[in-house]
Amino acid sequence: MLKHELRWNPLLREWIIVAGHRRARPWRPEEKKRMCPFCPGAPEIGDRADWDVMVLPNKYPALRPDALEPKSRRGLFRTAAAKGFCEVVIETPEHEGDLCNLSLEHMKKVVDAYTEEYRKLGHEDFVKYVMIFRNKGKEIGVSLTHPHSQIYALPFIPPRPRRELESCRDYHLKEGRCLICDILAQETQEGERLIYENDHMIAFLPFYAMWPYEVHIVPRKHVRSLMDLKEEEKYHLADILRAVTAIYNALFDFDMPYIMVFHQEPTDGNDYGYYHMHIEFYPPYRERDKLKYAAGIEWGAGTFTYDGIPEEKARELRRAGHKAIEKGDYLGYVP
Ligand code: ZN
Ligand code: ZN
Ligand code: FE
Repeated sequence: MLKHELRWNPLLREWIIVAGHRRARPWRPEEKKRMCPFCPGAPEIGDRADWDVMVLPNKYPALRPDALEPKSRRGLFRTAAAKGFCEVVIETPEHEGDLCNLSLEHMKKVVDAYTEEYRKLGHEDFVKYVMIFRNKGKEIGVSLTHPHSQIYALPFIPPRPRRELESCRDYHLKEGRCLICDILAQETQEGERLIYENDHMIAFLPFYAMWPYEVHIVPRKHVRSLMDLKEEEKYHLADILRAVTAIYNALFDFDMPYIMVFHQEPTDGNDYGYYHMHIEFYPPYRERDKLKYAAGIEWGAGTFTYDGIPEEKARELRRAGHKAIEKGDYLGYVP
């Protein structure tokens, strides 16, 4: 029988998604020539190449809409149905590249796909949180290199967004303002960690970054999710996503691996007016030839050590930015 359930950790108070069948997942099948499942000609894609962005269900989903309710609860060991959706957003028919290699028009279509899936999946009443993310690079452990991002529609609010939501709620109660608007104001005022900005979006290496080259993208306007963005703002989001990935790839003159995540308001029907959507990038490098690992202190304690000085790393990114942005067709600039 396929093991497929959520298990509750009563100590950390968080869910684990148990997905036994995912063992069968192919590991980098495209390395054997012409076996990329996301290239035109592959069974799920069809022969047509006249598309820009394609959304498919994940073939090896960790969550499924028809997941069975678990039978029972044994003492402290509680389970729940692994009910949800896992999707893949294939960003281009081209087998190689990063977000910065897509045209602005093309990247805007990717943003539109994210928005539409967030709306559609969030509309299901068992979906409490829609997590959009992108894993890039062998160092991150991606199993497929064809440019794609993923969406998990979860039946619970996961711990990191939950903590952010609680902090924003508490701050709003106390100060009557948005915590993230205020962080953005202070980052803008201090200025030394800013990386890129356009009319509607700002990218910076946060004062409290955990990863050496961590970058956050925050809309200037207080918006809770992609659904609150106007067309023009979505173009500027597309622009800044292209810019940040171009800056990363210019930093060491190699394709920078990273994890990209969208933090948006939950879709459980409650009011999260105090929350402010943003996007976070965590690249695993701390220097050109050194990876940063989450190890004993990070995993065991949950406390990160930052190898370096955030303001210096931000300066390096800006320097790379001047190089990368001048060459391209971008809407914004490196401050
Ligand atoms: Zn491919
Ligand atoms: Zn705000
Ligand atoms: Fe966040």
